[in-house]
Amino acid sequence: MILLNPGPVNLSARVRQALLQKDLCHREIEFSQLQSRIRNQILQVYNLTSKYWAPILLTGSGTAAVEAMLASLVPRNGRLLIIENGVYGERISKIAQIHGIEFDILHHSWGEPIDFDLLTKFLDSHFEITHLAIVHHETTTGRLNNLEELAQVCYDRNIKILVDAVSSFGGEEINFQAWGITACAATANKCLHGVPGTAFVVCQRAALPSSEIIPRTLYLDLGTYCRYQDEGATPFTQSPQIFYALTEALQELEDSGGWRARHANYAQLAVHVRNGLVSMGISPLLPQEHSSVVLNAYHLPNNFTYEAFHDSLKSQGYIIYAGQGNFAKSIFRVSTMGAISITDMERFLEVVKQMTNS
Ligand SMILES: *Cc1c(COP(=O)(O)O)cnc(C)c1O
Repeated sequence: MILLNPGPVNLSARVRQALLQKDLCHREIEFSQLQSRIRNQILQVYNLTSKYWAPILLTGSGTAAVEAMLASLVPRNGRLLIIENGVYGERISKIAQIHGIEFDILHHSWGEPIDFDLLTKFLDSHFEITHLAIVHHETTTGRLNNLEELAQVCYDRNIKILVDAVSSFGGEEINFQAWGITACAATANKCLHGVPGTAFVVCQRAALPSSEIIPRTLYLDLGTYCRYQDEGATPFTQSPQIFYALTEALQELEDSGGWRARHANYAQLAVHVRNGLVSMGISPLLPQEHSSVVLNAYHLPNNFTYEAFHDSLKSQGYIIYAGQGNFAKSIFRVSTMGAISITDMERFLEVVKQMTNS
């Protein structure tokens, strides 16, 4: 089965094989070494130094990392501005509400670009904003939000940026230093091609809360995780098997040329699919220059409900992904992540062509 959903992804043979290594206790030196290795590998993806940056590993899916980042890094006397232009931005607002974080929302319709005029007007009349949360790649629509421009706006106003990079880390450019990013949440099982179950936050060490502050959450407190992990320990049980797969997946990423090579590979697959679908009269939701290379959304072909289109593709070996909310009946999504090749995409296009011709 070829997974064209945005994670979990098709595993490479070497990552799948890595799951079968020996059992480990998470309080033994072997686990500690494995954890430290993964932390270093995560920093290496974007060439970050451990002096200033802390990679913090959690057991959970991507949302656990996003929730940990928000609950741990916005202080009680801070105020967060959340930019919404899709499901995942709106999820950040729910997280902020649940944890009692003081926040405002800059809402956009799903798929809309960030309205920078509106943003700067808002910030220039709300000096109490200390942090801003943004989804880098809005997987709802495939829109890649403009972090570079956003970074400048925040830098000028001394606002800290917290990024949900769950579906971009490892596949898109994230210029931590130049964009002045404070923290970024991500997961093992999207662009890094690992197994679901481990998520992480890469955080400026200077932004971590001190141990004197009572955290908003016990299990998701990044300060606690970081203090333990810097000592080679872990506050709670982690999954050794998922760690085995993640270290192998990160090694595979490095062996294959790092995030730039992965980005180029995704771009090749995405452009191939886009051109192929357009030639069959299936049009993309967003223009290419606003889209990530990780996932693109398309209008459903005429005469197909999503269910019929999905089920027919599934019976021929391809899993596409539905739209969410208002898009549920009108779009489908195709991701390029995971161990899939241009040949897989060519066959996918062939199958779509036969389905839409008949
Ligand atoms: C996948 C994803 C998440 C996390 O979803 P989980 O189901 O918790 O892994 C968060 N943000 C974005 C942008 C995503 O694509």
